[in-house]
Amino acid sequence: MKRFSFAAGPCPIPPEVKKQVAEDVREWKGCGVSALELPFTGDEFAEILESAASDLRSLIEIPRSHKILFLQGGATAQFALVPMNLARVGWHCDYVESGYWSRRAIEEAASWWDVRVIASGAAGRVPNFDEWRRNSDAAYCHFTSNESADGLQFHEFPQGGKAPLVADMTGDFLTRPIPVEQLGLVYASALKSLGASGLTIVIVRADLLVRGSSGGIPAPFDLARQTAARSKVNTPPMLAILVAARMLRWLLEGGGISKAFLRSQERSANLYSIIDGSGFYRCDAAPDARSRVNVCFRLPDPELEESFAHEAEALGLLHLRGHKRVGGLRASFYNSTADEAVDALLEFMTNFMRRNG
Ligand SMILES: *Cc1c(COP(=O)(O)O)cnc(C)c1O
Repeated sequence: MKRFSFAAGPCPIPPEVKKQVAEDVREWKGCGVSALELPFTGDEFAEILESAASDLRSLIEIPRSHKILFLQGGATAQFALVPMNLARVGWHCDYVESGYWSRRAIEEAASWWDVRVIASGAAGRVPNFDEWRRNSDAAYCHFTSNESADGLQFHEFPQGGKAPLVADMTGDFLTRPIPVEQLGLVYASALKSLGASGLTIVIVRADLLVRGSSGGIPAPFDLARQTAARSKVNTPPMLAILVAARMLRWLLEGGGISKAFLRSQERSANLYSIIDGSGFYRCDAAPDARSRVNVCFRLPDPELEESFAHEAEALGLLHLRGHKRVGGLRASFYNSTADEAVDALLEFMTNFMRRNG
């Protein structure tokens, strides 16, 4: 039986990437040692890092003004590292609260500096840009483009404002075009878009790097030092970077971001339309704030939700339970989620409704 994962993270790895990485780990390009055995300071690893950076730069058209960093610690580490690097004592920062992950970012930042929550979403919606009370003297303005636990997404990007915009894009990285030139800093944990956990991609406008609290930031987490060292202040997470490099090439060769965006729109729209038309499944998010990556939905009662998840699992459709803080059901569609998996899920949902609705 085929099995498909709909987990919010990690994302699936396409079979051809798995095969390539297995080969790389067995032996790196005929050089007699595993990719894992390459010294991080050598030419071979530099080539892997360069390939990942240049593919990423062309995929989302990152301008020269912005640097790409490959760091450790996941997005959660950035919750503290962004305030540490972009502000200093006496500064304050704007944060937009839109769900579970932005609240985590706010809590962490608040233990560093003065945090102002400039807008909050309500159940099933994200705060409109015209509700954001942005402060022109803030060190930066932080928002979360996709709330993976709540199934919410900003379908547009904010514009303007004197304070640079900082986006946690872990949830929807590389599933949509990103106007990088409008943003001061973008971060994304690699596990939801590029395969392996622990690695974080940070894209930062170079002129913001001199503003940090200077001093006291551990070297691997000091964005200015990491930029100068090309992400090699110390040994980086090499296996996760290798997986990311292979995933980025796969994405580029598969049609890039415009294709990925189209698929993301189409597949989520199909699922939402089954939910909305069913009178059985229910999605509480407002249509203009629904995540195209994490579709959260409910059934009339928790027992039915449990039997849904249970029966799905028996058919090889895995990890459909919602985030533990939110409950309900959740299907996550990443670039690497096979079309076959989406079709199987839609078919199961239609059948389940027929039997129980
Ligand atoms: C998953 C997720 C995180 C956490 O990523 P880690 O790699 O576990 O730190 C942070 N923000 C968002 C929006 C996420 O979806």
